[in-house]
Amino acid sequence: MRAEIICVGSELLLGDITDSNTRYLALRLSQLGIDLHYSTTVGDNRARLVDCLSRALGRSHIVLTTGGLGPTDDDITREAIADLFGESATVDETLARALREFFALRGIAMTSNNLKQASLIPSARAVPNARGTAPGWWVTREGRSVIAMPGPPGEMQHMWENEIEPRLQRSDSVIRSRTLKLFNISESLVDNLLKPITPSRNPTVAVYAKQDGIHVRITAKAANDAGALEAIEPVESDVRRALGEFIWGSDNDTQESVVAALLTSRGTTLAIAEAVTAGHLTSLLAAAPGSESFLRGTLITPRLDGASANEEDCVAMARHALQQFGADMGLAVVGCAVEGTDEPMNEIVVAVVGPSKERVTTGVYRSRPHRVRTLGAYYGLHELRRALSSD
Ligand code: ATP
Repeated sequence: MRAEIICVGSELLLGDITDSNTRYLALRLSQLGIDLHYSTTVGDNRARLVDCLSRALGRSHIVLTTGGLGPTDDDITREAIADLFGESATVDETLARALREFFALRGIAMTSNNLKQASLIPSARAVPNARGTAPGWWVTREGRSVIAMPGPPGEMQHMWENEIEPRLQRSDSVIRSRTLKLFNISESLVDNLLKPITPSRNPTVAVYAKQDGIHVRITAKAANDAGALEAIEPVESDVRRALGEFIWGSDNDTQESVVAALLTSRGTTLAIAEAVTAGHLTSLLAAAPGSESFLRGTLITPRLDGASANEEDCVAMARHALQQFGADMGLAVVGCAVEGTDEPMNEIVVAVVGPSKERVTTGVYRSRPHRVRTLGAYYGLHELRRALSSD
């Protein structure tokens, strides 16, 4: 079974809003084992939407649309679906009554254009919308369906979970993924190291560059969860063998959650000094579970522009924070602009100190200036994780 998504809205094409509906639906479809081959975004233009719908219905079994079900003239999804099937919409009295009751209950005047939301074509079934005024449309012809849902994510998701997903014909397969997360390695090196792992269509292995490092995603399609996990396992072992030293977590792990778990399990408290990351490292860690028990305090100083970032100063700052807040460990991240390079570069130095050891780890990294805050915070977490793992 193949599905396709069409998001309708000029706001999306103008860059006013970000399309989160596709992401949500793509995740849900993959959990159901339904293949998603295309997703399209189209503006509030009836002819272009009819064109998209017609292509989609020609190659997919289920076409999901979101948006364009409002009451105004530029909400054109219903009209486009009517055009596609060559049918005319009329007001459905049951839907109109429900709409009147909805407005009466809230004490808001209902205007005549709202009636558009109570219209149906003969082949369409209305899909209840418990969160808003626009019901969805479900139209099936010759085994293929167009399902139109409202644009607001809360309305769409509620409709999907309660009205649509339970009624979709079950696929006889599931799609499952395992994501391994790496840091301090380039995307190209990951790609090279993975070359010996035979490329296959099932499971597939894909490499993505993310804010917190490189993600390697292994995806398998199988009859059930157990089958998919069984197919993923040998490939995961191969990837771990090739890249193990760079892997810090998997699936929903974040660098801060992994470090927080290590600090919590060891009962180790932490003090931080930041002089390049503007508090970003502390804000990541402070949002991680258990931070109230391990985070003792933070010193944030302005960037050290002009000065050289040296390891001795960084170690001294980490020790100063450790002593000031009476913590078991001190972490410092400092940085400065690097002189004499062709393009602007920042140097980031990280130091981790413990009460008994002068320094546990230090690391010197480089980053382009626009990424220095984020990368500095992740380099800090990376060194801290190394220090906690080697203790
Ligand atoms: P309404 O009845 O509220 O007008 P609608 O079905 O006509 O709903 P749109 O008018 O297209 O939907 O969009 C309404 C709002 O829903 C948008 O302003 C936006 O906030 C949100 N929205 C629409 N499409 C998306 C999308 N693909 N991803 C995230 N949000 C979206």
